[in-house]
Amino acid sequence: MLAQIIVLGSEILPGDVLKRYPSSPVAVAEDVDPNYPNSRTLRMADGTWYFCSPAQEYVVTRHVDPAPTTFGSVLVVGNTSTADALADLTAFACDVADRLRFPTVVATGRDYDPTQYEAVVLADGWSETFESAALGCEATLADMCTFWADDVYEYPVNTTCGHCGEDDPEAAPVRSVDGWTTSVCPGCVAAARREALPGVLVAA
Ligand SMILES: [Zn+2]
Repeated sequence: MLAQIIVLGSEILPGDVLKRYPSSPVAVAEDVDPNYPNSRTLRMADGTWYFCSPAQEYVVTRHVDPAPTTFGSVLVVGNTSTADALADLTAFACDVADRLRFPTVVATGRDYDPTQYEAVVLADGWSETFESAALGCEATLADMCTFWADDVYEYPVNTTCGHCGEDDPEAAPVRSVDGWTTSVCPGCVAAARREALPGVLVAA
């Protein structure tokens, strides 16, 4: 995606569009010449030259890949072909979040990239539908950290709040848009609902 970012003059790349010179993108950005360390020559696509200061900040428009947002979560793969199956899988994903201490995302189709997650958990019945079987195989082939359902239950239930860090036996995962948060204590859940803390919790 295109983003407006701030870079040093020494970091300007071909393809960047300078806010100060928006009419043409940079075609050639020469290295900083040690003989002229305070100036760097940029040649624009329209043939003009632009001298920038390597140590100064410039606003440029550049194509950047959005950072993966799912990393840090665990993908839970299983049968979602019926409402009951989805409910079972969603309940299981709550246990996964509680025990593995990661937020979980419930895979509800084929369109997930397992490599963008910390780990993949294959729930019972994962091989029964095409979408989940394909995802599971993809995760295995990608050499992902993969857990079976039974493995998950070898980890103890988490009683440490993932937000404030306090030990609270009532700490439990909270529903997020597509899965569950890590375990959070009731006090933090209430605070998040009251203050709508951005990115912390999505009220169930
Ligand atoms: Zn808490």
